[in-house]
Amino acid sequence: MASSEIIAIGSELLLGETQDTNTAHILKKLREIGIDIYRTQIIGDNVQRIANAICESLSRVDVVITTGGLGPTIDDATREAVAAAFDTELNYSEELWQDILRFFNDREREPSENNKRQAYLPMSATPIHNAIGTAPAFYIEKDDKILIALPGVPIEMKYLVDDFVIEILREKFQSEETIAVRTLHTFGLGESVVDEAVSDFETWANPTLGLSAKEGITDLRMTAKGMSRIDALVKLDDLEHKIRSRLGKHIYGVDAETLPEVVNRVVRENNVLVTVHEYGTKGQIASHLGIDILKPSSTVNEAAFPDEKKFAEPALAPVDQIVLYVWVNCVEESLCKVQLTCATSKTSKQLTRFFNPNLFSEEYYVFIALETLRMAVLDEV
Ligand code: AMP
Ligand code: MG
Repeated sequence: MASSEIIAIGSELLLGETQDTNTAHILKKLREIGIDIYRTQIIGDNVQRIANAICESLSRVDVVITTGGLGPTIDDATREAVAAAFDTELNYSEELWQDILRFFNDREREPSENNKRQAYLPMSATPIHNAIGTAPAFYIEKDDKILIALPGVPIEMKYLVDDFVIEILREKFQSEETIAVRTLHTFGLGESVVDEAVSDFETWANPTLGLSAKEGITDLRMTAKGMSRIDALVKLDDLEHKIRSRLGKHIYGVDAETLPEVVNRVVRENNVLVTVHEYGTKGQIASHLGIDILKPSSTVNEAAFPDEKKFAEPALAPVDQIVLYVWVNCVEESLCKVQLTCATSKTSKQLTRFFNPNLFSEEYYVFIALETLRMAVLDEV
């Protein structure tokens, strides 16, 4: 499998003024054609530093893609840097200059003198025609490796990657190998608990498993390389099966599935009717649930102090019904308390959680309630 690195070029990226979105797009596209990505980096508009970065990357991997620094101004340093990295000169191309003139003519505009800089390419570079901008992209091949220089303007970069670069790489590194990714979602277990349950899989080389956690959600991201898409998917299926045998129903969804979506589906599929009593939540719990799964008596009561008894001595619910009491009470500016009681016909569970509203969004307590509801449905049926 071919390996690659990406170098995003532009001082504005290093200053934090522009977000490097180009790298993310290129990463996705490389992944789709089964090219491994080893490293990405950002370099400012400096010929020597860019040249060094290119040389270092080329010593490590087969494909180096740069984005940015191909504009007409002096600070656009990529052309010079590539020439320096390949120990060669810049060469004027009349053909490229005519392309640039045509671009301006078509738009009834005049090129400026410095647009001529864009008609220079490192010797032995092959231009990639940029139909939607003035900066020609180009590539240079050497010793079975390839450097591809793309403009920084996102729309031009995307057009060139999607329409040309992927084809060039496919042809050069013809391989049926591909990468498939799948993410499993859990809520409320905590990253360290999930980690403990699956840590042996996290050391695997293929498929790999990585965890990421945010606001109570811990995601398990599986990545598999295969000789074909089917092969990669079979590897993902196998790992998913193993993870599910350990985390079971704690996995609420896969990939784009969200917790509210899953809870609504699970409640509806199991023909359960839900009553929600919520306080201090602005009605958020009920508003995340479809009206066809809510009992008409579901109440949102901002003013009334909840009946503490409901939390202390919860009764059971009728068969095929679930009663949920949620009370969010912010005791301090940076401390909120979530109290929750969830009654099915078999059990009644209580839960208390604390969170800092400055660090967590409102979604956090909504998700606590929804996950409790999901588990209750699975227990009830
Ligand atoms: P350049 O090709 O370096 O002249 O870049 C032209 C413009 O494209 C810059 O001014 C940025 O606004 C934008 N740009 C450059 N590089 C990136 C990048 N990596 N991600 C997103 N936008 C970029
Ligand atoms: Mg720039």
